[in-house]
Amino acid sequence: MSEDLVRYEDPAPGVARVVLARADKHNSLNPELIFAIDAAFARALADDTVKVVILAADGRNFSAGHDIADTVEQYQQKMQDISPRASGWSGFQEPGAHGWYAAEKEGYLEPARRLRNFSKPTICAVQGRCIAGALIYAWVCDIIIAADNAQFSDPVVGFGVSGVEWLAHPWELGARKAKEFLFTADVWSAEEAHRLGMVNHVVPLDALQDFALAMAVKIAAKPAFALKLAKEAVNKTLDIQGQQNAIDQAFSLHHLCHQQNFRMFGYGMDTSNLPAMASAPRK
Ligand code: ZN
Repeated sequence: MSEDLVRYEDPAPGVARVVLARADKHNSLNPELIFAIDAAFARALADDTVKVVILAADGRNFSAGHDIADTVEQYQQKMQDISPRASGWSGFQEPGAHGWYAAEKEGYLEPARRLRNFSKPTICAVQGRCIAGALIYAWVCDIIIAADNAQFSDPVVGFGVSGVEWLAHPWELGARKAKEFLFTADVWSAEEAHRLGMVNHVVPLDALQDFALAMAVKIAAKPAFALKLAKEAVNKTLDIQGQQNAIDQAFSLHHLCHQQNFRMFGYGMDTSNLPAMASAPRK
């Protein structure tokens, strides 16, 4: 695990806390951080004394989302170098759609799915901004506690993309509000998210970690097997409703958007050329 990107804590018996520690970059999610989170959850999974895991973040903001400082080529190179290939995919440097699809499946989609299917209960504590790819990390947790200053947004339609790689919006917000959230890129407050049922509780910022920990301790007092099966029962209900297939089909549309942007504008992950998109010549 990359200790400088993620901190692993044991704040109470039966509770592990995984803390994003890249506050200087607003905890933006590059491959190094994503696989460090993955490794931290694997550690919590392997420890049978851990019954509940809290996902938290240092700094003012939970996370600014996927790190778009890397170009597509740099991203694919990093994936080639550090990916554990846990999705069963490889070929991250293949040309065209092949490598890009493989890299995002390995680097974004399947790490999200591993956390979503993590057998032990998980609680996400969110403060400040939670943007685009950061939503994924809140949503894959079982319970979301938001500080009263939390703000949620997914602005990627403005970048010519149909939504982040893990398109759980209809399940988290309801179909009608999901469309508004995507179409407008409006920033929604913790209270609004709570009203829509997207977060479980809104608490004062200075009470966030204590509140999340108190809930984790309460949950950890329950029988581990029953907790796992209660989680699985709810998740399987969503699966039977088609959630995972819906997310997979949306991932395909997401990649259609990537290819459209690339063919039209030569535009990859680097948003520095975004202002030029409207006037860019067709390629
Ligand atoms: Zn993408």
